[in-house]
Amino acid sequence: MPGKSKKSELEKLGDKLLFKKESCWEGIEDAENKEIFELSAEYKKFLDCSKTEREAINTIEKAAEEHGFVNIENATKEDRKLFMSYDGVCGALVYVNDPESFEEGFLMNGAHIDVPRIDLKGYPLYESEDMAYMKTHYYGGIKKYQWVTRPLAMHGVIICQDGRKVEINIGEHEDDPVFTINDLLPHLSQDQNKKSATTVIEGEQLNILVGSIPFKFKSEKNSIKLSILNELYEKYGIVEEDFVSAEIHLVPAGKARDIGFDRSFVGGHGQDDRICSYLGMRAIFDVEKAETSKNMMMVFFDKEEIGSMGNSGANSNLIERMVNDIINLYGKGDYNRLIKALENSKFLSSDVNAGIDPEWKSVMEPMNSAKMGYGVCLTKFTGSRGKSGSNEAHAEFVAEVRNAFNKDGVKWQTTELGKVDQGGGGTIAYHLARYGMDVVDCGTALLSMHSPFEVASKADIYHTYKAYMAYYKYL
Ligand code: MN
Ligand code: MN
Repeated sequence: MPGKSKKSELEKLGDKLLFKKESCWEGIEDAENKEIFELSAEYKKFLDCSKTEREAINTIEKAAEEHGFVNIENATKEDRKLFMSYDGVCGALVYVNDPESFEEGFLMNGAHIDVPRIDLKGYPLYESEDMAYMKTHYYGGIKKYQWVTRPLAMHGVIICQDGRKVEINIGEHEDDPVFTINDLLPHLSQDQNKKSATTVIEGEQLNILVGSIPFKFKSEKNSIKLSILNELYEKYGIVEEDFVSAEIHLVPAGKARDIGFDRSFVGGHGQDDRICSYLGMRAIFDVEKAETSKNMMMVFFDKEEIGSMGNSGANSNLIERMVNDIINLYGKGDYNRLIKALENSKFLSSDVNAGIDPEWKSVMEPMNSAKMGYGVCLTKFTGSRGKSGSNEAHAEFVAEVRNAFNKDGVKWQTTELGKVDQGGGGTIAYHLARYGMDVVDCGTALLSMHSPFEVASKADIYHTYKAYMAYYKYL
């Protein structure tokens, strides 16, 4: 046929043997394009109302109720869709197909809802040079210089001496005030400019500006601080000591946004790992479409960014308590049933990976690092210096997972976190693997990970959701 060249033998061999990476945008239909953008629009709403782990759990609980999930505390043996939360900061969604077969294990997906941010100290408020500030301690791995000179919102809770819980949310409404951390002007930065990036802003310099008007307009010692405390007392009924029993976080103020002329990216804070949390939630809401007979869970962990420690982190017996509570709802639990249920479970450790940024290519190995817009990341191992600290998934389990993805036309890519010996990182994976279950890492690639404005591709978001559905469907 004129104009259509026949494939050479080598090209045919390539079609048969080569592992092809292809952009998710390549050749898609209008209908799929629409689905991609609709999913991201919903995802952005989730980010906007889930700026702390407590807010995320509340958002998940509300959405779960709308999808017919029942809080396990009010559930009966007849219920099949459960919501559970622990300490208001972590939790799970459960889809029970068969209460008789818990020992056969659950298909579990898990992500973390805590994110890198800045927290108030327990005794934060002071005044200096006739201005009032609050002291902070950052949470998780941040580049401190990224957090100065930007509007910050304050979210969190204060538990007063009498047990009253005060919720704080300041800086998201356009009429709200915001807070900020100042930086030195360039005109006087000769000395600062010589410092390394880790010290150009020191941890103890991350103090937020909170006011400057003295009580009754009369300057005396502590009159600005007292004026602010008075305002907080009148508004919230709190006193200075109450900050000791509080969780107050500073996060970038404002909503998640589309990025680019073509709006192909989502930009926003906290996408590591609320992106996998949201998509995992969506997948278990839609799991009826998967027509599977398995019991399924979507788990939302806290404390991942500080090493998964604490009773709401993956390095606790949280997953045991969750599965035990599920078993006990439908009958009498015993240790043997619990251990068997955990051992026979499968776990998708859903967390973000680093996408290749053309400005920082040198830290990436292009064949095995994530390309933006090339689909969900399947990560056999994480860790650093020879996979140290990683749960390396068994080949058999990776085969099952990729097989499921391929069956459903999920665009996926095999990924590592950057070049060998460049650095590295871990996830919750190995904390779950200790129960004997198979675990593999899987999630969405980000640019500017851990920054106040992380970037994800809408096509990758869509294929991450599709991947979680395929996992429930075919494993
Ligand atoms: Mn993460
Ligand atoms: Mn992280």
